Amino acid sequence: MTRIIFTNVVIFDGTGAMSYPGEGAVADSRIVAVAPAAAKLDRSGAEIVDGGGATLMPGMVEAHAHLSWPCAYDRLVTAKSIPPEEHLLITARNARITLDHGFTSAYSAGSLGTRFEIALRDEIDGGWLPGPRLKASSIERAPGAVFCIPQTQDAGHGRGAQAMRAYIKSCADLGLDSVKLLLSGDDNFTPNGSQELAYGEDEVAAAGDEAEKRGIWLACHAQAAEAVKLGVRHGFRVLYHCSYADVEALDMLEAKKSEIFVAPAVGLAHAAIHADPSFNLPPALVARGHKILALQRALVPELRRRGVRVLPGGDYGFPHNPIGRNARDLALFVEHFGYSPAEALMAATKWGGEIMDMGDELGLVKEGYLADLLLVDGDPTADIAILQDKARLLMIMKDGAYHKAPPVSLTRS
Ligand SMILES: [Zn+2]
Repeated sequence: MTRIIFTNVVIFDGTGAMSYPGEGAVADSRIVAVAPAAAKLDRSGAEIVDGGGATLMPGMVEAHAHLSWPCAYDRLVTAKSIPPEEHLLITARNARITLDHGFTSAYSAGSLGTRFEIALRDEIDGGWLPGPRLKASSIERAPGAVFCIPQTQDAGHGRGAQAMRAYIKSCADLGLDSVKLLLSGDDNFTPNGSQELAYGEDEVAAAGDEAEKRGIWLACHAQAAEAVKLGVRHGFRVLYHCSYADVEALDMLEAKKSEIFVAPAVGLAHAAIHADPSFNLPPALVARGHKILALQRALVPELRRRGVRVLPGGDYGFPHNPIGRNARDLALFVEHFGYSPAEALMAATKWGGEIMDMGDELGLVKEGYLADLLLVDGDPTADIAILQDKARLLMIMKDGAYHKAPPVSLTRS
């Protein structure tokens, strides 16, 4: 068993505590020792990586991943429909790109294929394809036809509590980790859609009850205040967007703060506002970006004040908001929500481990934790924007194995 020692590094451990000069040792898939620099870990038989003052930090977690949304930073996919074979391959490529940019875990916020993420998750877990640890989601469903879901995929569910129970059970039987429902629509789908509830309370209650019985998680797209409340009342674990949450919704989120996670997806709003003119975005879409950003600039600091875990993750995969730009969300937390860089990093690492339901072994640089690690050229607690430059990621390790090995100039044995 090879031991790897990272020395001459500054450790950001993921808790939000101040970084410190130190050393870390990895053996097999785990971090086996972490110490301040002066302690000098045992070097016998170890491969040494001299970080030259670079930052050693936990791999980041993307909390609002859409790996099957086809657009990546280096590939614009504009086809109106993609055959499933091509679509699955594009999805697998997007998984690799997500990992290339320092995200060693991804919590899916919805798929465009019924079984895409089951297949992908299992290939990644088996070590056969590169990609982040993945929590696999169902298709993002609402009753009836849904915006951009391919016709080759599952037909969804009928109305009423029984139909909802059957759908949740079918998702659990497939082996999905999470079911995503659109509890409200969105102004980007239909005019004023954000204020329209897609389900009745009986249907959402049935979903919550059945999901608990089957051991599967629920996640929701919830813009309207009432959609947020429906989700919280019926056991949804991850609530996306929440832009129009009112005081009652905030109180309910706060009351369940140890069980739930919020990921507002600020990246998409930012992207609408700052898209390259060549995308020719409709002015109404840009205006909606401004509106959502203004709402979230008030919402997120309040959630933070109340101790709700709000995580970066920004709906990447659209042409003007492509996969690969995910680390921009951390900078947006600093720019718009008043987080310090260390707090944004903590949300993407420690809380990332928690959203993956692996908080006791993922998301920290700590003895016994899984060795999902980044070596970053520079100090992201001083300038969080450097994480957006993948050239600054000198090393990417997942499960103790290099996805990107450190430069040879840094290694010796
Ligand atoms: Zn989304």
